[in-house]
Amino acid sequence: MTSGGTRPLSGRTAVVTGGARGIGRAIAMELARQGANLLLTYRTNGVVADAVAREIREFGVNCATCEVDVRRSADLERMVEDARQAHGGLDILVNNAGMRDDGLVLRMSEDAWDSVLETNLKGTFLATKLALRHMSRARWGRIINITSVVGVIGNAGQSNYAAAKAGIVGFTRSVAREVASRGVTVNAIAPGFVDTDMTASLTDEQKALILAQIPMGRYAMPEEIAPLAAFLASEGAGYITGQTFNVDGGLVMQ
Ligand code: NAP
Repeated sequence: MTSGGTRPLSGRTAVVTGGARGIGRAIAMELARQGANLLLTYRTNGVVADAVAREIREFGVNCATCEVDVRRSADLERMVEDARQAHGGLDILVNNAGMRDDGLVLRMSEDAWDSVLETNLKGTFLATKLALRHMSRARWGRIINITSVVGVIGNAGQSNYAAAKAGIVGFTRSVAREVASRGVTVNAIAPGFVDTDMTASLTDEQKALILAQIPMGRYAMPEEIAPLAAFLASEGAGYITGQTFNVDGGLVMQ
């Protein structure tokens, strides 16, 4: 256990949507390791979220959990209120919750389109809007949106997901311009392929095709995405805004 007031994120409160598993869990753990108090949101499994919260408290920080469907603004209002009540504010928002529902565009249902856009893109908009009320007033804030390299290079069978993730990049840049003068930065992280439940269902053939394109020849572990999120949340990243950072083993080089 580490405690005390000297860690980079000591005294900050962070909310991580979908923080109970995968990339969100790894980011929540890293923010806590660096001293932030946490509010984790989960949608389906409160027992798992509580277990992650117990692990997080071992870093000597506070951690609460909250059931949130990011498609519902009422849930997100409760999330922001919970952060305020549990920890007195909301300094860092990580818009991590996301899902995919793949299919070739010719066969894609409107439901598959809508649910992916609503979760990934609209959820990011709703949470950001609510968090910004507090951050603007405090004249300090960090918003970190999890997009994907798929939003940059596209992926056959993922037109809905790619559109949502590309939308997040444009949203990030626009909001960054709106709130820069208030001490709030807005950035995005674009992971390549990460070893989580989201990629576990890919077929061996799909996995082989993906691996062949990654110079490092392997997927990322969620823990390899988290340190950049913690840096973007820190005081030291205060002059960085509107950017999208690829963390992808060299898959996309720009
Ligand atoms: P994951 O293991 O499938 O986790 C997805 C998370 O999102 C879960 O915590 C889930 O909560 C939450 N979530 C899904 N729909 C939600 C909703 N409507 N409301 C609230 N929470 C919801 O996936 P992951 O790989 O960690 O993905 C995390 C983020 O990284 C996503 O935005 C994803 O698009 C992005 N990403 C992933 C990869 C990759 O290769 N894995 C690559 C690039 C970007 P529940 O468990 O409660 O359902």
